[in-house]
Amino acid sequence: MKNSIKLYPFYDDNGKSLDYVHVSEHFTLGEFKNACFHLPTENIVNVPIPLDLLYAMDYLRKTLGKPIIINSHFRTLAYEKQKGRSGRSQHVLGKAVDLRGEGLVELLATAVKEKNEVYKKLREFGVNAIGLYYNFVHIDVRPAKILGGLYYWDDRGKKKKRDDDAVIDWSLWGVVGISLLVILKIFSYVKKNRK
Ligand SMILES: [Zn+2]
Repeated sequence: MKNSIKLYPFYDDNGKSLDYVHVSEHFTLGEFKNACFHLPTENIVNVPIPLDLLYAMDYLRKTLGKPIIINSHFRTLAYEKQKGRSGRSQHVLGKAVDLRGEGLVELLATAVKEKNEVYKKLREFGVNAIGLYYNFVHIDVRPAKILGGLYYWDDRGKKKKRDDDAVIDWSLWGVVGISLLVILKIFSYVKKNRK
C-alpha cells in the first residue's frame, strides 16, 4: 500500500504503554516514541508512521546486518519553531527518519553513487530523499520530484547542517525554462517568416 500512513497510539485503553509492540519486523513502537520531539506542554499520545518508510527501514536493517538506531522521527511544528526551524521539514509530517548504525552512512553513500540494488530498492519503497551526515542518515518518503529524481544532499564534514526542507526540486524550473526557450524560438521563427 503506497503512501499509507498509520497512526500508532502510545498507550492502550487502560493507559498501559505499548512500547514493546513491533510496528515492523525490526522496530518497536518504543523506538519511534523515543525519537519523537515535542514541547513539554504538548500532549503527544500517538505518532504517524508511513508503511513505505517502515519497509525501507526494515530493508536497510536487513541489508546492513547490524542494529539501526532511530535518532529522530516525528517532530511537532511547535518544537521545530522553538528550535528556529522553518517547520516545513518532512519530520513534522512523520515522513522522515534520521538513522544511525555502523556502516550505514557508507551504505547509503555507495547506493547513491552507484545506483545499485540498495538504491533501486529504496526508491521502490518510496524513499524520495536521502541526506548524508557525518554520523547519521536522513531518509524520507515525500512526493517524488517532477521528473522522478532523488532529493539528495551530502553534508558530511560541513559545519552547518542543512534542514531537509531546504532542498529544492530544480527539475521543475528546468522544465519551465526549456518550455520558455521553445516558445521564444517558435515566436522568433514566426516573426522572421512574416517579413
Ligand atoms: Zn532528518
